[in-house]
Amino acid sequence: MQIFLSVKKMQEWAFQAKKHGETIALVPTMGALHAGHLELVRHAEKEADKVIVSIFVNPSQFGPKEDYKVYPRELEKDLRALSQLKVDAVFVPSLEDMYPEGYETWIDLEKLPGHLCGLTRQGHFRGVSTVVLKLFNICLPDAAIFGEKDFQQLLVIKKMVRDLNLAVRIVQHPILREHDGLAMSSRNMYLSEDERKNASVIHRSLDRAQKLYDSGERKSENLIQVINQMIEGAGGKVDYIKVCDLNTLNDLPAVDSDALIAVAAFFGKARLIDNIVLRAKE
Ligand code: AMP
Repeated sequence: MQIFLSVKKMQEWAFQAKKHGETIALVPTMGALHAGHLELVRHAEKEADKVIVSIFVNPSQFGPKEDYKVYPRELEKDLRALSQLKVDAVFVPSLEDMYPEGYETWIDLEKLPGHLCGLTRQGHFRGVSTVVLKLFNICLPDAAIFGEKDFQQLLVIKKMVRDLNLAVRIVQHPILREHDGLAMSSRNMYLSEDERKNASVIHRSLDRAQKLYDSGERKSENLIQVINQMIEGAGGKVDYIKVCDLNTLNDLPAVDSDALIAVAAFFGKARLIDNIVLRAKE
C-alpha cells in the first residue's frame, strides 16, 4: 500500500496505472474510518484493478460555525485499518496542495443543494462537489464509491458527473449500521454514552415510518409527525425530517411514487443524518 501526500505524486501514479491498462476505483473519505468506510473499500476491490482511498478533511464543505477544527483525525489508525485490506494507494493531500493561495474555482449545482442539508449547511455541497471533482482529476478513477447514508451528496455527485460528462461510474453502497441500527458515522464519536443510546431512535423512527407505510399510510405529514415525536421524545433536536422525491428531493405531500425519508437531528453536539427509501407499491 503506497501513501501519497502530494497531488503531483498521486496523479503520476494514477497516470501510470492507466497507461498500463489498469482500472481504478476511488473511495473518497474524510478519515476517522469506521466499519462502514471499510465496507466501501472492500466493495471497491470488486469495481476495478486498483483501489485508491483518499483521506482529506475538506475545509470548504464546513460552515464557519461547524466542526472542521475538531473533526476527528486518526491517520495512523486509518492507515493500519486500510493496510489490512486490498488498498493500492492512500491519498492524504495537504490543505495547501488542494487549495493553494489564490484558489478560486468552484462547482455549484443550481437546485439540488437547495434541499435537506443544503438549507442548514450553506455552501456545504459547493465544497463537496468541488473537492470530489478535484479528487477525480487527481486520482483518475473509472469508478467511485459513495455511501447512501449521505444520500443528497450521492445525488449531487451523480448529477455533476452527468452534467459535466465525467468518465466516472458512481457506485452507491447501502448504509452500514451499528448493532442497534444507528448509522455508522465518524461523528458518532461526539456522542456521550447516553446520547449514543438515545441516538438509535433515529433508525427506529424510520423503521416505524416504513411499517406505517407498509400498512397503508401515505400522507407524508403523518409519517413525519411520528418520526418527529420519537426523536424529540428521546432528547434529539430535529433539524429536518423530509419525505421527498428520490431524484429531485422536492417535497412529496404523499408517497405515491418512490420516496426518500431523510432525517437530520442533533444529539448533543453531534448532527446525525439517516434515511430510508420507500418503494412505491404496485
Ligand atoms: P465521510 O468520511 O463521512 O465523508 O464518508 C466517506 C464516504 O463513506 C461517503 O461516501 C459516505 O457516504 C460513506 N459512509 C459514511 N458512513 C457510512 C455508512 N454508515 N454506511 C455507508 N456509507 C457510509
